[in-house]
Formats: sequence, structure tokens, C-alpha cells
Amino acid sequence: MTKRVRCLIIGSGPAGYTAAIYAARANLSPVLYEGMQPGGQLTTTTEVENYPGYPEGVTGTEMMDDFKKQAERYGTQVVRGRATSVDFSTSPKKVTIDNEEVIEADTVIISTGATAKYLGIPDETKYSGMGVSACATCDGFFYRNKTVAVVGGGDTACEEATYLSGLASKVYMIVRKDYLRASQIMQERVMKNPKIEILFEHNTLGLFGENGVEGAHLVKKMGEEGEEKVDIKIDGFFLAIGHHPNTDIFKGQLEMDNEGYINTQFPTTFTSVEGVYAAGDVADSLYRQAITSAGTGCRAAMDAERYLSEHNL
Ligand code: NDP
Repeated sequence: MTKRVRCLIIGSGPAGYTAAIYAARANLSPVLYEGMQPGGQLTTTTEVENYPGYPEGVTGTEMMDDFKKQAERYGTQVVRGRATSVDFSTSPKKVTIDNEEVIEADTVIISTGATAKYLGIPDETKYSGMGVSACATCDGFFYRNKTVAVVGGGDTACEEATYLSGLASKVYMIVRKDYLRASQIMQERVMKNPKIEILFEHNTLGLFGENGVEGAHLVKKMGEEGEEKVDIKIDGFFLAIGHHPNTDIFKGQLEMDNEGYINTQFPTTFTSVEGVYAAGDVADSLYRQAITSAGTGCRAAMDAERYLSEHNL
């Protein structure tokens, strides 16, 4: 028999769990599918110092455990499984889990987040799991007293470089422009760190090494006067160049922007389909913070609650 739920939440980051807390407390009996990465991106970050209510800071994993406990306390059913396709052309909406089970949902809250980007050079695949990583917290441990490089000049890159400097003996930052895009405080942190060397105006051409990464081929001032090839010796190569939204399964079903972020109707979380809401990074290329995601998760649950009561569902 097909399972029918009033409020189906896809994704288990701050947006999904906050939606679940609000939906459960509004008696919507939400069912939340955790997706590929239970707890979402925060489980791959280090200390979270900017989420209100944790004056001493908290690890991302602990924080997400707290979110989950709070959602379950009010009756959210948290289920392992990944939404693999959707059909939003009918009411109730249909969501297929793990290519098997089809669930009918009166409302759907999408909080599938975003995923780290790669440069797209073949060597990233060649050395995958052999020195290439997009998560310093997950893999930094393997590079104690070794030399690593972090690609990118945003807040993520600075955070990853700072974290890695606590483990590695040296950290290069490979930055394609002649300045960092990161916030002032993060810039100061990396500039002052004696273990971090910033290579401005450098691009990565490839990686080399026999049984894993042993170095990177870089080019300085690519395509400009004074262009110069530079090789650096490194043991690990970390990507920190931004994210892309996890919206592939919603293509053709919902309106999105050019980068694939779901369009919502500010200040609501309404998508282009009635009864379907988007919260968190999946609809936000600008702020991408745990607290802003949680805020939109709350709004999505309230939007779903109103829809259900207006339609007597
Ligand atoms: P950003 O988009 O801010 O930065 C991406 C960086 O990667 C830029 O320096 C960009 O260079 C570089 N880059 C992108 N593509 C390439 C490429 N193909 N080759 C080389 N370099 C490339 O992403 P972040 O993930 O750093 O941050 C996303 C958002 O999350 C931001 O709003 C940030 O402030 C926020 N954030 C906040 C944190 C905090 O407050 N604790 C921690 C982490 C993130 P260029 O500048 O040339 O485009």
C-alpha cells in the first residue's frame, strides 16, 4: 500500500530539522528523509561559533544531533533514505525513495542543501581518495605534519586552511585572483598564520604523483603577461571553491535560477508548485548559513501548515 503523509521533508540539515520541529509541533506528523549525508553539510564542518545559543561553540555533528533529537521529541519520523525522483504534477505529490518506495505527500518541504564543487580537471578523479578531498574536517587527520593545498579564496577556503594548519606542517592557498573574497576576520586569520602561504593569481593545471598526490602543477598569471608555470610539492589537495545546489531530481518540476537554485517567492518559501516549499541552501546562493537555513525551515513548515488547513488536509 502506498504510504501517505501530510508533510514530507527531504533533507536533514538545519533547514530540514527546523521544518520538522515546527511541523511536528503543529501536528502535521512530518516524515523526514535524511538523504545521502545525514545531518547535512554541518557534519563536515569544524566548530560552529556563530549559531546563537551555543556561547562556547559546538561541533557541527553535535549540533545536528541536537536538532534531530528536538525534531524527534515532538514526533517527527526520521527515516534513512534518499529521494530519487519526484512527480509534482499531481496532488498529492509523489516522491520516490531509493528508486523503490513511492510516497504520497500532501505537502513537500525540500531542504536537500548544496554540495561542494570541484575544478573539473581529470586529476581530481584520478586521485580521488588518494590525496584529493573537498572536506578538511573529514580528511585533514591524514595530513598531520604534511604539506597540503587549499583551492579557493572565500570563507570556506580560509576556514579549511586555518583548520588544516592545526594538523599539517604547511598549507598553501591557491587563489585565482589577486585578493581574497573571504570576510575580513577570516582574511586576517589566514594572513597572520605563519603556516599558511597564499599563492595569489595561481590556477591549478593538474596533479602529479606515483601512488597518490605528490604535487600540483600551477600556473601564475594565466593568460597574462609574465605567465609562469609553478610546481608545488604537496601531499593533499583540498577543494573549497563553493557549492552547487542538490536539485537534479527537481529539474523540469520546479522553477530554478541559472545555477539550479530553486526559486522561492520571498518572503514565503513557496516554489512554483503549490504545496511544495524550499528551505535552506537549496534555495539560497547568498547567505548559506545554518541560522538562515533554520529560519527558512521554520517558514516552510508554517507555509505547509497553512496550505494543509486551507485545503482541509
Ligand atoms: P565563495 O563562492 O564565497 O568562494 C569561492 C572561492 O572559490 C572564491 O575565492 C572563488 O574565486 C574560488 N573559485 C571558484 N571557482 C573556482 C575555480 N574554478 N578555480 C579556482 N578558484 C575558484 O564560496 P564559499 O564556499 O567560500 O562560501 C560560500 C558562502 O558561505 C559565502 O557567503 C561565505 O561567506 C559563507 N561562509 C561563511 C562561513 C562562516 O561565516 N563561518 C564559513 C564558510 C562559508 P573568485 O573570488 O575568483 O570567484
